[in-house]
Amino acid sequence: MRSLRFLLCLLCAAPLGALASAALPKVRLFTTGGTIQSKGAHREKIAEYNDGRVTPKELIDDLPELKDFAQVDFEEIANVGSPGITTEHLLKLAKGLNAWLALPESGGAVVTHGTGTLEETAYFLQLTIKSDKPVVVVGAMRPWTGISRDGPLNLINAVRTAAAPEAVGKGVMVLLNDTIHSARFVTKNNTYRVETFVSREVGPLGYADSDRIAFYRSPLTRHTTRSEFDVSKLETLPAVDIVYGYQEASAAPLEALVAAGVKGIILADSAPSFGRATSLALSKGVVLVQSDRKGSGRVLNSERVAGRGLITADNLNAQKARVLLRLALTKTTDAKEIQRIFNEY
Ligand code: ASP
Repeated sequence: MRSLRFLLCLLCAAPLGALASAALPKVRLFTTGGTIQSKGAHREKIAEYNDGRVTPKELIDDLPELKDFAQVDFEEIANVGSPGITTEHLLKLAKGLNAWLALPESGGAVVTHGTGTLEETAYFLQLTIKSDKPVVVVGAMRPWTGISRDGPLNLINAVRTAAAPEAVGKGVMVLLNDTIHSARFVTKNNTYRVETFVSREVGPLGYADSDRIAFYRSPLTRHTTRSEFDVSKLETLPAVDIVYGYQEASAAPLEALVAAGVKGIILADSAPSFGRATSLALSKGVVLVQSDRKGSGRVLNSERVAGRGLITADNLNAQKARVLLRLALTKTTDAKEIQRIFNEY
């Protein structure tokens, strides 16, 4: 009887909606900008807009439906186009996410990001987040103000995924166009189409459909709670750049980077002229990683490549190999150890 009276009391003190929403998971939105936070002058010109005009509060206020899935608040990290994301932003984001996810009351997190370099940030988080709780990186291909915009549904689906128990332990995920990808395997594949994100060769993890969040796979490479990388005390990361191979490619960019004092270089394919420059780089202690420019497929750890002192990137594209090499160089410069890292992550 006493507990019935207590329950009745609770019901009159709090509206039913409030009781229901208090039971929903807490998802924090970490915003960095990009097209999802952009406004255009003409609703139909969906490729003409300015990044970073929509505030995090506007995103949330525009979507009352979010309240059906989670208790959402936000933390603004930046409001820039994704080519403008810096090491400082990455470290601030990883530290902010780790602090939020360590709280017992947090359920998960969503990160807004421009799509151009989204896969780099997502992979960086996959390697540096110290929690099993879901982290979903989301973007859009059309401005928040455009006709047939994709941002609102992408954001709702990202919050639903971050709040879903099935998403726990799947590593950092990327969600656009109803499709959930692993940060390890996803890449942007098209300049303007909404179906731009793909996980070549291996396929997506699942889908955010209106009936449920449906997962079919889990990534097997090391990530989040099984990652050895710790950025909690770092203020910067080692400089690593990328050099592209093509017919008659000059060795000048490679030589210039070595002269500039970079700690590592990713070779996106090769060229005959690279031979002497790579020997020079290695003699100066620069770590070289052989990746490829085709966008999918493994670079084999063959005697031909490894025998020249190069580390092989497996099936990481050049921009993701750069992310991993920067983190690897915070721990070691030993080529064998770095190759182990490339084999495991
Ligand atoms: N310019 C945008 C960027 O920040 C493109 C996008 O967000 O889709 O990468």
